[in-house]
Amino acid sequence: MNNLPCEMIQDLLPLYVDGVVGEEAKQAVEDHVKNCAACRQMLADMSDTGIEEMADASVSDTASDPQKKIDFMKKNRLMMKRIRLASSLCAIAFMTIAIGSMLVLGILQ
Ligand SMILES: [Zn+2]
Repeated sequence: MNNLPCEMIQDLLPLYVDGVVGEEAKQAVEDHVKNCAACRQMLADMSDTGIEEMADASVSDTASDPQKKIDFMKKNRLMMKRIRLASSLCAIAFMTIAIGSMLVLGILQ
């Protein structure tokens, strides 16, 4: 059951997060994510809990140092703000285009 392809592990991840996989599959997922950053990231995205134990060294550094953790959270918040700003800009651009084309269509008709 070792060295399963990433695709297979990623198929198992949702089941693993829900805790409905068998013992063997569970073990396979856990072994895999220890050595595979991509699948570990996917697992982290899917589950908010339980990832700390299997996180790599850099993440445990962050967790063990409160100041770093705060910096990390600040960075995250800043990123969220940027994402929110970007999506508002997209929404405004979309509205502008939508209204613009409505006007153009209105003029043409
Ligand atoms: Zn993988």
